[in-house]
Amino acid sequence: MSLRGSVREPARDTPVIAETEVLVLGGGPAGIAAAASAAAAGRQTMLIERYGFLGGMGTAAGVTNFCGLHANVHGEIRRVVHGITDELLARMAALDGLNEPHLIFGKTAAQAYDVAAYKCAADALLLSRGVRLLFHATAVAAAMRDERCIDALLVETRSGRGAIRARQFIDASGDGDLAAWAGAPWEKGDAQGQLLYPTLMFRVGHVDNDRAGEAWRDVEARMDDARQRGTHSFPRKGAILRPMKHDGEWRVNVTQLAHASGRAVDGTDGEEISAAEVEGRRQVLAFFDFLRDCMPGFEAAYLLDIAPQVGIRETRRISGHCQLTADDVLGCASFDDSIGVNGWPLEQHVAGDVKWSWPPIPQSRGFNQLPWRMLLPQRVNNLLVAGRCASMSSAAQSAARVSGGCFVMGQAAGFGAALALDGGVVPADIRPPALQALLEQHGAWLGRDVP
Ligand SMILES: Cc1cc2nc3c(=O)[nH]c(=O)nc-3n(C[C@H](O)[C@H](O)[C@H](O)COP(=O)(O)OP(=O)(O)OC[C@H]3O[C@@H](n4cnc5c(N)ncnc54)[C@H](O)[C@@H]3O)c2cc1C
Repeated sequence: MSLRGSVREPARDTPVIAETEVLVLGGGPAGIAAAASAAAAGRQTMLIERYGFLGGMGTAAGVTNFCGLHANVHGEIRRVVHGITDELLARMAALDGLNEPHLIFGKTAAQAYDVAAYKCAADALLLSRGVRLLFHATAVAAAMRDERCIDALLVETRSGRGAIRARQFIDASGDGDLAAWAGAPWEKGDAQGQLLYPTLMFRVGHVDNDRAGEAWRDVEARMDDARQRGTHSFPRKGAILRPMKHDGEWRVNVTQLAHASGRAVDGTDGEEISAAEVEGRRQVLAFFDFLRDCMPGFEAAYLLDIAPQVGIRETRRISGHCQLTADDVLGCASFDDSIGVNGWPLEQHVAGDVKWSWPPIPQSRGFNQLPWRMLLPQRVNNLLVAGRCASMSSAAQSAARVSGGCFVMGQAAGFGAALALDGGVVPADIRPPALQALLEQHGAWLGRDVP
């Protein structure tokens, strides 16, 4: 059947279902930090999320691990992301849902967590600040006051379609949905249009931890061996196989989701992401067989969870007032308008592999500052964009997209939106020193005391 034409929907008046001072789209790490900060600065804040819980890729895509909270500062591995994140982590630890940090290639640290603890701690954090949450609400369009100013976000909720008016908007959707609807320029992919490959995450239970030992060290060699023997095949070289906090539970990051042409699946393409879910589950089952067949300690494991959605690493990135580059990450760049730091290296999920590129460690300070201007879109005045869709080159995004960088960006966006309201100016006109003072007052570390 060939598809032709279009259907004209009747024009309609959409009711205003809420008004707020700051409206945050998306409840991932960037959105959580943005909403908590705007509210902490005394502004009426609302957060819209299409799922019934917070955490973004961290929960919905089963990431279950914080990267980018630490950096290797001249040979010493240190927590470098502070502020709102400290409170979130404390709440997760109090729920017994936060692992001790573990080493990454001996160079930095990451920290695994339980999905349920992240969801509950994030709820409690935002509610304690008075943020209004609207779950099961999918944003679908922007209504503009004029071509530079957003009037309202249009959402489809379980009670129908509605408009939510605000004075300042923060796009923390990961995909830059609101920025794109409002007409802010954006890009997608590297010079060849290639995106980072998505992954469907899963966890297994009932692993014999004593026998599994440090399985993360030899999983790649065992995969190579199985591949050579022809017993199993894999979507990419090596796998991230790590123990979680509670005995017998491990997470697995190994699937890689490609379009039929071989390029990465595009998370903003409805057909592609749908097919990726099915292919992802096929790859999960195939790798689960390998684990039970070939990895000591995993013989009696069961499939504990397959994440609710394919994990999307990269789609749209806005072209903002300043674009963070790979040279900034590898050269540990400083910016006068620093809002915090990124200590994670370039982590590029390319066809069949993951390519890591680090700043010189321990010779360098091991982190770059993130500039306020990377959150400022072109053309739209009352919008900030935080998280994996902020203004970064594709390569730089492979670093600063991890949770640590997203918390930093979200925190600055929330306080920045509040300052703009305080001063009756647009975010591009706030004074960075005033923002930096507010961030530091709320515990953020801007990386200015390490040359
Ligand atoms: C497979 C995978 C493994 C990863 N591993 C790690 C890791 O080990 N450690 C780490 O720190 N990071 C990791 N990352 C990266 C990290 O999880 C993400 O980059 C980070 O979560 C991005 O945060 P964000 O807030 O910008 O966006 P997201 O986490 O994507 O959150 C965006 C939120 O907005 C909501 N949303 C989007 N559009 C709409 C809409 N139109 N209406 C309503 N709601 C909407 C989404 O439901 C989501 O909750 C991984 C990512 C993937 C995909």
